[in-house]
Amino acid sequence: MSFVFVLDQEKRPLDPVHPGRARRLLTEGKAAVWRRSPFTIILKTAMPDAQTTPLRVKLDPGSQTTGLALVNDQSGQVVWAAELAHRGNQITERLESRRECRRSRRQRHTRYRPQRCDNRRRREGWLPPSLESRAHNILTWVERLRRLAPIGAISQELVKFDAQLMQNAEISGVEYQQGTLAGYEVREYLLEKWQRRCAYCGATNVPFEIDHILPRSRHGSNRVSNLALACHACNQAKGDRTAEEFGHPDVQAQARLPLRDAAAVNTTRWALYRRLREAGLSVETGTGGRTKWNRSQRQMPKTHWLDAACVGASTPEMLRWQQIVPLLITAMGRHNRQMCRMNATGFPDKAPKQTSVVGGFRTGDIVRAVVPEASKKSGVHVGRLAIRATGSCNIQTASGTIQGIHYKYCHPLQRGDGYAYQKGAALPPCG
Ligand SMILES: [Zn+2]
Repeated sequence: MSFVFVLDQEKRPLDPVHPGRARRLLTEGKAAVWRRSPFTIILKTAMPDAQTTPLRVKLDPGSQTTGLALVNDQSGQVVWAAELAHRGNQITERLESRRECRRSRRQRHTRYRPQRCDNRRRREGWLPPSLESRAHNILTWVERLRRLAPIGAISQELVKFDAQLMQNAEISGVEYQQGTLAGYEVREYLLEKWQRRCAYCGATNVPFEIDHILPRSRHGSNRVSNLALACHACNQAKGDRTAEEFGHPDVQAQARLPLRDAAAVNTTRWALYRRLREAGLSVETGTGGRTKWNRSQRQMPKTHWLDAACVGASTPEMLRWQQIVPLLITAMGRHNRQMCRMNATGFPDKAPKQTSVVGGFRTGDIVRAVVPEASKKSGVHVGRLAIRATGSCNIQTASGTIQGIHYKYCHPLQRGDGYAYQKGAALPPCG
């Protein structure tokens, strides 16, 4: 279980508490439920002088899913974790379909519209809508967490590899094998650059060695531009020859090319970094190599939220994460801006967009529906509501979608906030 967020009567964030403590506060009537997801309670007294321990928000932004973790740097306790699923592809698809509709409309005889040619300049820092949405999702959650818990710092994974660390890396034999951080970074970089194949014979799934293209014995450097991945046989056969003398001039050429992924700045991550800084937060950055090194040093399994917990140099020596169950958050959007609903060829063939509020409910509200026994759908259903103009709505519960539940049976638990929630799976204790 994740810890429970606590607010005092004046909505000041206090230290998150163990779920057992939260349950006692609730049953003793000293607190009430403030939010269901993430679970937050509000005390019935004000605590203006309460001492809090600042927590660190750690982010591992990904293209589909972003890992979030709240870590107490002193105790090493992961307090809360989540995996945030973005809706990047969905946005691309919607824009695509909008463009098609507009294109077909231009062929038709419609009223005169003045040309629009001077509104096409992109402002500074513009991101494509799908990337913009990802950045917004993450910023939204950082803001929400700041309202729910005492946040002191932020760590974010910014780039895949640390170029500086790799240039200065001392990689010789044993030191490399046991993996200093720099050596690890180089190893991961080379594995990715040479696509986990021997540069000379193309062998895969064999133990690799690091080959100096211009050998060390002939004063070849340790810079990554002089390194290739080789299997043991090729490394031995090459001996103290250069790659060219060994009959592989192409290897020499490829080694000089920078890895495109590592060189190209990851636009979303940099934009996010800038915006977090603009929000007045101190942001520590880490590399993907460092994250992976931290995680394997602590023998933690690979998940998005554990990657997030391992971001950056500030990661505590002992991370306590075993009991944490991550919250699975999915970005759902809020309603629909399309006024004229049409068919695939762009002709309006459906009723215009209906009102989004029915009986005081909107799509996205989390509700508890108690349906009386006389009805076919009798029972208690808890889940996310999808509104229908008839009043007969759908509820998406943990076990599936239940159709045709009238809103009069529903009781709101949490109003829609653009996200859907699900409880994640607990990991096996030993990892
Ligand atoms: Zn080989």
